Amino acid sequence: MADLSAPPVPSDHIMGVYARTPLAFERGEGARLYTTDGDVYLDCMAGIAVTALGHSHPKLVQAVKDQADKLWHTSNIFTIPNQEKLATKLTDATFADVVFFTNSGTEAIECAIKTARKYHWAKGQPERIDIIGFDGSFHGRTLAAVNASGNASYLEGFGPPMPGFVHLPYGDHEALKAAIGPTTAAILIEPVQGEGGARALPDVCMRGLRQLCDEHGILLIYDEIQCGLGRTGKLFAYEWADAAPDIMAVAKALGGGFPVGACLATAEAARGMTPGSHGSTYGGNPLAMAVGLASLEELVKPELMDHVREVAGYFNQQLTGLKDRFPDVVLDIRGKGLLIGVKLATPNREFMQHARDEHLLIAGGGDNCVRLLPPLTLTLDEAREAVGMLERACETAQARLKASAT
Ligand SMILES: *Cc1c(COP(=O)(O)O)cnc(C)c1O
Repeated sequence: MADLSAPPVPSDHIMGVYARTPLAFERGEGARLYTTDGDVYLDCMAGIAVTALGHSHPKLVQAVKDQADKLWHTSNIFTIPNQEKLATKLTDATFADVVFFTNSGTEAIECAIKTARKYHWAKGQPERIDIIGFDGSFHGRTLAAVNASGNASYLEGFGPPMPGFVHLPYGDHEALKAAIGPTTAAILIEPVQGEGGARALPDVCMRGLRQLCDEHGILLIYDEIQCGLGRTGKLFAYEWADAAPDIMAVAKALGGGFPVGACLATAEAARGMTPGSHGSTYGGNPLAMAVGLASLEELVKPELMDHVREVAGYFNQQLTGLKDRFPDVVLDIRGKGLLIGVKLATPNREFMQHARDEHLLIAGGGDNCVRLLPPLTLTLDEAREAVGMLERACETAQARLKASAT
């Protein structure tokens, strides 16, 4: 078994912002990753909900190859035909009328925040700048995004908190009503929290948020960077509640591993975003758009959503069984679809190592959770295999508990 007390392997020339696992992969196929040492791992984290169609999906590989032969990059000062095509597909499939393409999730959030403030500015209410966010949220690592999430450990040392961001306890309706005032611009929320520990906002709360925003003339922004694009068994998580936002950030699965993000908005919400007000050198470039188109074409297939719900149902049933059998290890199963959180009684970092010892890759999460974020294409057989590995990881965690108690 791996030595849990071993420090992460330091690198001389990589900025030390990650405590990296000493595991390197050279090849992937579907839900399998192959290390440089020739070991095989079952991938139930998918690069944190990114490789939603699995590794080396033939259609995505082909899209990159074909586009790489033709044209990589021009500039957003020119028309990019595939950008218009992908924007049309995204708006056809959602509440939105317009799209701004980015290279990452945090840039999509950045665009969402700017769009919301500019909306009020364009309406003659420039004082409306406050973005209301919630405990346990994660919106990325730009300064605006860390200020929006309010997570103290991501803010520490980076200067004073920025004005214009308000943080509330998750699920406190009264606090939310009290916080809305004449300087409120928007509410920003993940319909299913990812990093925070796979907490799904109840449908009735989502509809409540929509109503509250309408009553006060403020905008509703969803961060569906992790929970969107099929992860919950619908193309977007908000569809479960039938409560559409005004603005939405997406990324992760959109490029299936190629960096593509997008900020979607209604025409009304985007009214302030006029020529010159925002931009990106790379965002929406021909290479990214070719992959985005190929990826979305797969993700919108109804049979894929049926599959996600079937595999998610299986996981939910099996993991609930593990919770019953290992009550000293597993405290709760949460999340939605294939964004699954397992809240643990034992340290989640240790449990991730136990899973890796079984050659299963899972992600960490807040609130001492581990997250299962498998490719949406994970087969039922692979899900069964993953459950077996998790069961053995639970046995290891249980045995360690017993050993430390004696
Ligand atoms: C990953 C993530 C982000 C940040 O995306 P990056 O591509 O890392 O910038 C923002 N919000 C949520 C919910 C995420 O899961």
